[in-house]
Order: sequence, then structure tokens, then C-alpha cells
Amino acid sequence: MIKRKKTKRIYVGDVPIGDGTPVVVQSMTNTDTRDVEATLEQIKQLKDAGCEIVRLAVPDEEAAESFGKIKQSVDIPLIADIHFDHRLAIMAIEKGADGIRINPGNMKKSGLKEVIKAAKQASIPIRIGVNAGSLEKELLDKYHHPTVEALVESAIRSIRFFEDMGFDKIKISIKSSSVLDTIKAYELLSEKTDYPLHLGVTEAGTLISGTVKSSIAIGYLLLKGIGDTFRVSLTRPPVEEVKVAYEILRAVGLRKVGPEIISCPTCGRCQIDLFSLVEEVEKGLSDIKTPIKVAVMGCVVNGPGEAKEADIGIAGGKGNGILFKKGKLLKKVPEHLLAQTLIQEVKRMEQEMRR
Ligand code: SF4
Repeated sequence: MIKRKKTKRIYVGDVPIGDGTPVVVQSMTNTDTRDVEATLEQIKQLKDAGCEIVRLAVPDEEAAESFGKIKQSVDIPLIADIHFDHRLAIMAIEKGADGIRINPGNMKKSGLKEVIKAAKQASIPIRIGVNAGSLEKELLDKYHHPTVEALVESAIRSIRFFEDMGFDKIKISIKSSSVLDTIKAYELLSEKTDYPLHLGVTEAGTLISGTVKSSIAIGYLLLKGIGDTFRVSLTRPPVEEVKVAYEILRAVGLRKVGPEIISCPTCGRCQIDLFSLVEEVEKGLSDIKTPIKVAVMGCVVNGPGEAKEADIGIAGGKGNGILFKKGKLLKKVPEHLLAQTLIQEVKRMEQEMRR
């Protein structure tokens, strides 16, 4: 059982973050925010995949206008991601943003004050995103490099600045593309503050490298009770970030959403195309939200036994396979109907579990 570090609670829209509430999954659209239709379509896909808060880049006034239109058409909290120009942050707040993400290091202090005032008036939170590229000069002089300690000190300075203005709806993130630095930074930060933390490994990479880096860093921190929300960054369609995020949460035992597919690596005993089969099953179950353990195994000899803990599963034979529940045979099925039979059975089970 993970003992989560106690943090303050904030709300992004109606989604609570911190204070022991469930760790929240976020992602970011990669459409042009000025393209309202495409962005709305991607937000819908993200929401369907289980994303709970969506962040949108707001690089100019046209994007801020579109942000307002988009906000009116969705019921999921939206965060405006702003760099440099405080006026864009204020515009996004006026257009109904549920939160703002800024990097105080790349905004003039006078502008930052205006943003804090506007967020305070709108009663929305601000994420302080600290970044090695925009560290204060004094800190660079003191530490010589953007070290983990320097980044954490920068975050704490920003927190004090916000607090001095009477603002405390804060969450914090520290950007690093290194797994070890990310871990060190968040561990240090969590000792120094009890504001909620937004975890993430920045520029994590492709599906494989990004998933591995994010899983290690975010998974490790979550297991230590650190982190209230996170985004998995991948150079992939953002829906895949959400899928990986839920797999991380499932693996550390914090949240279980949707089917857990267990499948064997195949070996010389396998006589069916298990790779295609498991892909078909995964696709067919993508809209299921109930946690059901589903096994897709390569052979009838060892499959059902090896996947005894699965709620339901199939195992391939030669030209046919079997459907099994908790390791026990239910029926024999022709190979071409195996995936569909399993999908139907899981959907039936979900209906029963909902009753
Ligand atoms: S389930 Fe069968 S095919 Fe799959 S790894 Fe085990 S023995 Fe090999």
C-alpha cells in the first residue's frame, strides 16, 4: 500500500488535485489550437481514452481566441500553456481557462504579477513549470549549472513570489529529460513544499524510449508517494500518452481503469498468429472502462495454467483455441472467431459487473 505524501488540494475545473485524491492523468493536444475543429476532435479522443485534464498551447492571440471557442464546446477542464507573453495568459483566463501553465523564468515580473492577479480573481490555479533553460541568473552564478538543487531553489523562489501576492492555488513541475534528475528533483521538492506536484519527464522520446523513461521516473516517484498528477510525454499521438499513463497507474497499484491484457511472449509451442490476435483484442476492448484481467495466450497446453489469475482468456491451438475463465475451460472456438468471442465475453462480463 502506497503512503501518499500529504499535499494541499487545488481544483482544475471540477477535478481535485492533491490531498490524497486520485492521481490525475493529463495530456496535451498537438493540433494547432487555432484549428478549433481539429483540436475539439483531439480533445474528444483524449477524454474517451480517460484523460482528465487537457492542456492546449496558446502561442498567440488567435490561439487565445480559439481557446475560448474550444472551452465553450467541451466539458473537460482545459489548461492554457503560455510562454513569455503575460497578455496571452490573461486573455486565456478571460476566455474561461480552468488553469494556466507558465514558466515564471521566461516572463517579466511585472507581467507575472498581472497574471497572478487575474488568476486570483478568476479563482483558478497556476502551474509553475520550472525549466533548466530559463533559470534565474543569480542561481546560475551560485550553482554554475542548472543543477537539480538550482531548479528546486528556483521553484521555491517562485512559490514565495506567488505567496507574497496572496496566491496559493499552485502546482509545480520541474522539467528534465533525465530520469535520474527528474527523480532527484521531485524528491527534493517534495521535502520542501506541500503544494501538489505535477510529474513528467520532458522530451521523453518515442513510444518505447518515452514509455520506459516515464515509467521508471513517474512509477518510482508514485511508489514513494510523490506526485498528484502527471503527463507522459511521447512523440506520438497524445491518446497514447493517456494509455501509457493508465498502465503506469495500474502497475503501481494506484488506479485500475479498463482491461488489463496479459499475453505470453510466444515460443516454439505457439501455432497461431498471437501478435495479430492480441492487437485485435486490445482494439476491441479499448472502450471498456471496467478493470478486467484478460489473457491472450499462445497455446492450450500451458496458456490457461500460466494465466490462472486472469478473469477470462483465450489460448491458441492449431486451427482453433479455447476460451477459459480463471484457468478453467469454457469452450473450444475456431481460430478465426477467437478474438471476437473473447471481446463479446468481456463485454458481457462488464454488463454483469455494472448491474
Ligand atoms: S503460453 Fe504456450 S506459447 Fe505462450 S509462452 Fe507459454 S508455453 Fe509458449
